[in-house]
Amino acid sequence: MSRVCRLLVALLLLALLAPAADQLRSLTILHTNDLHARISPDQEGRGGFAHLATVIRRERASAEACLLVDAGDFAQGTPVSTIYQGVPIFELVRRFGYDAATLGNHDFDYGTEMIPRFMRAARFPIVSANVVNPQGRLLTGRAYVIKNVQGIRVALIGAIMGGLRGFSTPERLGEWRALPPVDTVRKYAAEVRDRADLIVVLAHLEAAEQTELLRGAPEVGVIVAGHVHSILELAMEHDGRILVRSASYGRELGRLDLKLDLPAKKVVSWRWKRIPINAKSVPPAKDVAVQVAKWDARVDKVVNVPIGEARSEYPQPRLKSLIEEAMKEATGAELAFMNPGGVRDRLRRGPLVARDVWNVMPFDNTVVVGKVKGKQLPASVTAGKAVEPEREYTLAINDFTAANQPTQLGADGLVFSDTGKLLRDVIVAYIQKRQVLE
Ligand SMILES: [Zn+2]
Repeated sequence: MSRVCRLLVALLLLALLAPAADQLRSLTILHTNDLHARISPDQEGRGGFAHLATVIRRERASAEACLLVDAGDFAQGTPVSTIYQGVPIFELVRRFGYDAATLGNHDFDYGTEMIPRFMRAARFPIVSANVVNPQGRLLTGRAYVIKNVQGIRVALIGAIMGGLRGFSTPERLGEWRALPPVDTVRKYAAEVRDRADLIVVLAHLEAAEQTELLRGAPEVGVIVAGHVHSILELAMEHDGRILVRSASYGRELGRLDLKLDLPAKKVVSWRWKRIPINAKSVPPAKDVAVQVAKWDARVDKVVNVPIGEARSEYPQPRLKSLIEEAMKEATGAELAFMNPGGVRDRLRRGPLVARDVWNVMPFDNTVVVGKVKGKQLPASVTAGKAVEPEREYTLAINDFTAANQPTQLGADGLVFSDTGKLLRDVIVAYIQKRQVLE
């Protein structure tokens, strides 16, 4: 055979093996995560549910076959969530038209008994494969849902971090716990494999678990991740499988366009983009805007109360010290510790209203106090301070830190008693007493 012939034969074989362009199907996955109850745009004009809704509807209209999914943590982060225990958030996002979503650790902040209420308010499927009680019952009733999108069968499996208990308190979780996510996802992936052309995991996982799932679950074609708030600049890919994640607080919508070879159950090509939600240039969707305004007005009555003034910026590290001072003042404790991850916003220069403190401290955490010997004090508390090893010190922390001492405090087994004082009220009182923060 001549070289030209050999080349022709090779090309012919390639053409026979490769799926013809008309066998490929397009599927678009629009995705959000960690909306954290940010129903209105932030001070920089990013996000806002009504603006996000506009972009979702526009993108969906330009897609052939389309799914909208979320990777958890709808609730917790603003007063509307705290005051009404998360329910309005699920009522609002119902208007986005999600095909499925999963639970995030903060969706447990009001106790597991709220989850069925969230599911009723949402009306879209909320799936979670690995939150179970001792009898093995699934908290959400189902681990996955299979959607038929114009003939493309897509299995959507939900999963939460294995260390869920470390992100909550025993009272909130009760008997529920999280099974190891990757193994559990693989078990359900095997169960749905014959009934689905593509398996998608909605993954509210820690960063290392996200990578583990991408590398270790070959059945899974696409991972829509959440929980990790840092920006993912580029999608992650491993052996043709893809992991995507949007910015938190509804500041962007993710759009993953896939070309699928259905008989081979393979992603042939893909393109991912992050669409910024700019409230200044994107008009709000009217129906959502009306509902957001309704909730904002109800909340305003509670939180739009002047409490003082900040003469300078209080970024998170500075605010952490302020909160510790407030805890000491409210309890008379000699030492205080605030877990940095619990400081959820900064205080900006200018007049302060109670809402600013709600944004910093959306959680209903209480202040707890304990007596601790100097030598038992963890480095996170003593940092830079001289302590006498045998002397007993009073230490104020919050109940979340007390319930998660190894990860949050670097200690274990310290005993605290609850003062019943809400940390948020303690901070508000501290500012009100001074009126001016220099
Ligand atoms: Zn989370």
